[in-house]
Amino acid sequence: MQSKIRITWTAPFALAVIIGIGISVHLEHRAVAEETASPAAVADAQPRGRTPTPIVDAQYPASYFPNTELLGDQEMRITALGTGMPNQTRAAVSISYLVELGNGDKFLFDIGSGSMANLFSLRPDFSKLDKVFASHLHIDHVGDFMGLHIGGWLSGRYTPIHFYGPSGSTPELGSNAFVDAMQKGYAWDLTTRSGALPDKGAQIVVHEFDYLQENEIVYEDNGVTIRSWPAIHSLDGAVSYSLEWNGLKYVFGGDTYPNRWYAKYAKGADVASHECFLPPKTLAEYFGWDLQQATYVSTRVHTEPQAFGKVMSEVTPRLAVGYHSVQSPENNAAIMDGVRKTYDGPLALARDLMVINVTKDDILVRMATVDDYVLPPDVTEAYKEAPRTDEKHPSEAILSGKWQGYTPPPMPQK
Ligand SMILES: [Zn+2]
Ligand SMILES: [Zn+2]
Repeated sequence: MQSKIRITWTAPFALAVIIGIGISVHLEHRAVAEETASPAAVADAQPRGRTPTPIVDAQYPASYFPNTELLGDQEMRITALGTGMPNQTRAAVSISYLVELGNGDKFLFDIGSGSMANLFSLRPDFSKLDKVFASHLHIDHVGDFMGLHIGGWLSGRYTPIHFYGPSGSTPELGSNAFVDAMQKGYAWDLTTRSGALPDKGAQIVVHEFDYLQENEIVYEDNGVTIRSWPAIHSLDGAVSYSLEWNGLKYVFGGDTYPNRWYAKYAKGADVASHECFLPPKTLAEYFGWDLQQATYVSTRVHTEPQAFGKVMSEVTPRLAVGYHSVQSPENNAAIMDGVRKTYDGPLALARDLMVINVTKDDILVRMATVDDYVLPPDVTEAYKEAPRTDEKHPSEAILSGKWQGYTPPPMPQK
């Protein structure tokens, strides 16, 4: 059934759009509780002291407090973990999106530098964070994969991690080569932890696919279908993705110049995210570049706001999400000014830790409230019991250097 949607322009909501926090799209008739929450959706290991509760009648709290809300079994939650630039700020780290589904599945789209801290601030069940879909191999999109591999392994993942990513125009520019070389680079780290941590958690499985494929399936399991198509960005080997599940569709654009594949295959998206770069003049001022360099980057390598708006006017998603900028007041105003020249539909300019709840009836955009000193999440019994080989130790030559002036306390009994 096609839902009639109403955009609620409340005062805080209007302010949120102006400063780029987001928007709220609600139905006249709110979803009933049974449609938005079900015990079947609660499969995550929860941190101590947290009991998630169902959302009744789509009455969400104004902020998203991680691990306090039961994701409905028909519901999708998209969290922007990183929305900024390669030159990060505390407010805007590099690109990453977390997609959580009511069937319990979780997917990461890109894992750019700095995004791990925001992921950890959600205290997720890391045993489920075992799939990353990389749009391309720029470090502001994959730079924290190493951190996810190790940090997630320390924090609950006891199975291999899967890296889905495009091929390149030559083998050494593809995802297989990236992961292989990266793993060799931190061989010392992997060797120290192997044995102390669950053995299988060390493994990385790479699923490299042809970057030229058009809307072909790269992942299909448990009712979830993920497809890729080419993007136009810097060199061959950048892609965009769509994720479809339960009649809902999320599109992750990665980085791209406006392209015909996105215009075609993003159609029908409930939430379509696409980069929305700073316009040339603002980009030049922000980075201290000359206008020629800024114009080239903003309008030839990336998508400037007016172009983003044109793409979204073509795609007409239920919600358009722009990202890949630091949303300072000046930058936000310049982006909004450009987008609104060419697109007047539902829009959220993403900031780090912006959360989007999506059902067939509602799309709600909020910010997450997290603690700067958040504890790591708890691990499951399965993690504790997963097989481990023996721990590694330094050599006798190194151990002989232990200072005799200190004696450690006795080891407690197991
Ligand atoms: Zn890029
Ligand atoms: Zn980028």
